[in-house]
Amino acid sequence: MGLFGKRKIFDSIEKVTGAHSFHVHGKSIVCPQCGSDRFEIGSALLNTAGMTFMNLDWANRQATILTCITCSHILWFLQQPEITG
Ligand SMILES: [Zn+2]
Repeated sequence: MGLFGKRKIFDSIEKVTGAHSFHVHGKSIVCPQCGSDRFEIGSALLNTAGMTFMNLDWANRQATILTCITCSHILWFLQQPEITG
């Protein structure tokens, strides 16, 4: 990566393309910023400084992230929401 290379926001991210609607516990997920219900789903590691120091990044938990396709607001979930559309 060069001096002006693009930096990743998260240590590890796996992005699934396409916008979808989701729900958790029977309720639709709506962006708190703009009200949209369309998100791109991805995942990110929840790295802690202690686990990284011990070289145990593999033991850190993974979170599901939903990125609003309208305003780019990010919502985090420990359990993956259900895709409804
Ligand atoms: Zn939004």
